[in-house]
Amino acid sequence: MEARVISGTEIRDTIKKDLTERTARLARKPALAIIQIGDNPESDVYVKQKMRFGEEIGCEVTHILLAEGETEEGIIEEIRELNADERISGIIVQLPLPEKIDADRALAAIDPAKDVDGLTPASLSRLLAGDLSGFIPATTKAVLKILEHAGQDAAGKRVTVVGRSNLVGKPTALALLALDATVTVCHSKTEDLAEAAKQADILIVAAGKKHLIGREHVRDGQIVIDVGITAETGEDGKRKLYGDVDFDAVKDIVAAITPVPGGVGPLTVASLFENVVRAQEFAENK
Ligand code: NAD
Repeated sequence: MEARVISGTEIRDTIKKDLTERTARLARKPALAIIQIGDNPESDVYVKQKMRFGEEIGCEVTHILLAEGETEEGIIEEIRELNADERISGIIVQLPLPEKIDADRALAAIDPAKDVDGLTPASLSRLLAGDLSGFIPATTKAVLKILEHAGQDAAGKRVTVVGRSNLVGKPTALALLALDATVTVCHSKTEDLAEAAKQADILIVAAGKKHLIGREHVRDGQIVIDVGITAETGEDGKRKLYGDVDFDAVKDIVAAITPVPGGVGPLTVASLFENVVRAQEFAENK
């Protein structure tokens, strides 16, 4: 039987409607500041998506493009100014940063009340403690939304997360642990990925390797959430996106799967703006 395809786009549209209504009820428009350092074509695409979504739901989005050669101190100074600016509800630093910048140090400068990417030590330590009530990183939130939409309670389930980055894999594993799942985390040094993937009831893949997961990694009854995005330019000159899961190879085996594009991606942007709207709601109800 063919897998149920979980559309992130549809869930995104529901969130969008809710956020537009919440934004309209606020005294001031929620405002997101995006700090980008240097030109990076991939980052440009993501920043544009965020600006478009934010504007569509009635938020203000300011894109601050700093020079490639900007120092760590310069970035931190910019963040401090935004922390102090009452008109700004949330601040994000578009990743990746140029190599010479210590991303953790830069992120740590963000006021936890404006940390809508949930990547400051303050937000991450709440997640580590099993507290899901703070700002959770957008991609992790997107994964949780997909599970909710699919009617999946993670409690007691075996979940395998492929990828252990601080941005995606680790926060997602921690959130699922907080939801009482039995979590296995795999990474590039994992010896038998197929075995670890197959034992999962819920398989979440965030490795950034096109079609890493094939028929030998899955079994029937599984829910597969594909976070990976690899962009390639085809012979026709068009940009095409691929997931970490070979969708066509597994779709007649597993129970449900998210597509790429149209799965986790659209929900990640919506989840970020949920945090932005929430930050402004907090600020107005202090
Ligand atoms: P990353 O490169 O920082 O981390 C990749 C992780 O995958 C590492 O922990 C690595 O050990 C693991 N890995 C790599 N090769 C592996 C292999 N062969 N077997 C098992 N594990 C392996 O990447 P990231 O920032 O965590 O992002 C992961 C992917 O998710 C990327 O494709 C990225 O574009 C995508 N992403 C998507 C969204 C979205 O909205 N859908 C958001 C963020 C990231």
